[in-house]
Amino acid sequence: MNDAILIIGAGVAGINCALNAAEYGTKVYLVDDTPSIGGMMARLDKTFPTNDCSICIEAPQMYEVDNHPNIEILSNTEVRKVKKADGGFKIRLVKKARFVDEDVCTGCGACVEACPVTLPDEMDGKIGGTRKLIHMPFPQAVPNVVVMDPDCRFGRMQDKGACVGGCVVDCSQCRECPIALCLKACQKEGKDAIKLWMGNKNIDIEVNSIVVATGIMDAKPGEGLHGYGLLENVITNMEFERLMNAGGPTAGQIIRPSDGKHAHNIAWLQCAGRGLATGVPYCSKVCCMIAAKQVIITKEHDASVKATVLYNDLKAYGKGFWDFYRKAVDQGVRYVKGRPYYVSEDQETKDLTIRYEDLESGEIKEEEYDMVVLSMGLVAADRNKKLAKVLNLELNELGYFKEKDPFLAPLETNVEGIYLCGGATGPIDISESVVQATAAGIKAVTAR
Ligand SMILES: Cc1cc2nc3c(=O)[nH]c(=O)nc-3n(C[C@H](O)[C@H](O)[C@H](O)COP(=O)(O)OP(=O)(O)OC[C@H]3O[C@@H](n4cnc5c(N)ncnc54)[C@H](O)[C@@H]3O)c2cc1C
Repeated sequence: MNDAILIIGAGVAGINCALNAAEYGTKVYLVDDTPSIGGMMARLDKTFPTNDCSICIEAPQMYEVDNHPNIEILSNTEVRKVKKADGGFKIRLVKKARFVDEDVCTGCGACVEACPVTLPDEMDGKIGGTRKLIHMPFPQAVPNVVVMDPDCRFGRMQDKGACVGGCVVDCSQCRECPIALCLKACQKEGKDAIKLWMGNKNIDIEVNSIVVATGIMDAKPGEGLHGYGLLENVITNMEFERLMNAGGPTAGQIIRPSDGKHAHNIAWLQCAGRGLATGVPYCSKVCCMIAAKQVIITKEHDASVKATVLYNDLKAYGKGFWDFYRKAVDQGVRYVKGRPYYVSEDQETKDLTIRYEDLESGEIKEEEYDMVVLSMGLVAADRNKKLAKVLNLELNELGYFKEKDPFLAPLETNVEGIYLCGGATGPIDISESVVQATAAGIKAVTAR
């Protein structure tokens, strides 16, 4: 076996694990099944408890990973087969077709401009975010290469206006496309990066050890939770994060989806969905600090905005977290111990009324707001089950990877030579993820 390790998942945990391991002279394969590395942190505005700009911290690390001689990034790539052999692992990876040559594309954006189809963005659609069929995952993406929607490639978007010219041939049957506007635009730039005829590619590697860093996802509200999906101005904390973000769809303007007006009176509902069959059945640790961050930043945008947080319990477990919460209170944010029951809407103004129980007085109260933010918890990555099968690992009842012994063998698994870090182990913040990433990296490098 050669002296290499595989890291699965390239969020902040995978990236830090890779940089640490690579500094020891180890060859690192850093795999992510999405078109760019960066994970959740690349989509955040600022990070608690310091409120530093998230991408300003992560982008230099992404760049360092991209330029490290010992690290090979494999984006848009899945781990398909893993076999124990000679004290290490033989691995089959599948690099999914991107329909763009990564070695040729320079991310100039000419193809994106030429694409005639605009769709709601998967992440930001609710708050007005859009993307083209061929698009850059986000401005700081690594690799800085566009990706084509496979639906376009297989001709399923022609009724949406893809490639005006009215071709009737299924793209998968045609080797040379005379009308693809993205392709023409790319050629006009003197490049030939768009490859409509591109298949998935198998890549076989051998490594000594593996680190699983597949992270977390933001929980989605159950159907109609506090009006979500029915009332336009009820959004999730992830959507609010994107609203605040200068790189988000509203360029950092905190505006209502219903009418684009600035929101001046906003409520955060903590533990949204708690106790419901569709809710997250555990505390995600970070939501109280996410809300504190969001209210502080909202107040920084406009000190006159009224911010109210309806909460059950307050979790401020980390270094500087309690002071961070106090900072929110000092800025005039109203924290109310309350249990929300119902959110209704004035059909004309789209203003919202929250009916809740004040848990201090026991009274039922009603209050009006411009916008309501549901603090959703963190859930395990939805691909964990499939990956656990491939790696022969156990998941816990919540869908996160199981540590061999959380006290005596943390970050180790039931398979010798496979380690964990970050959100793959459970709900976690960024600094804890980085600490775990360093530890898992050392375990992986020294496993022989
Ligand atoms: C709205 C919101 C705000 C937050 N704000 C803060 C904050 O201010 N401060 C803070 O400390 N924390 C914050 N967090 C938490 C923070 O996002 C996480 O702590 C952090 O992202 C965990 O990093 P990670 O690398 O473990 O996981 P992720 O960032 O989730 O990265 C995991 C990566 O693995 C990839 N992946 C998943 N499955 C596979 C697979 N099977 N194969 C290949 N690749 C895979 C994913 O594509 C992803 O790129 C926030 C979370 C949310 C939802």
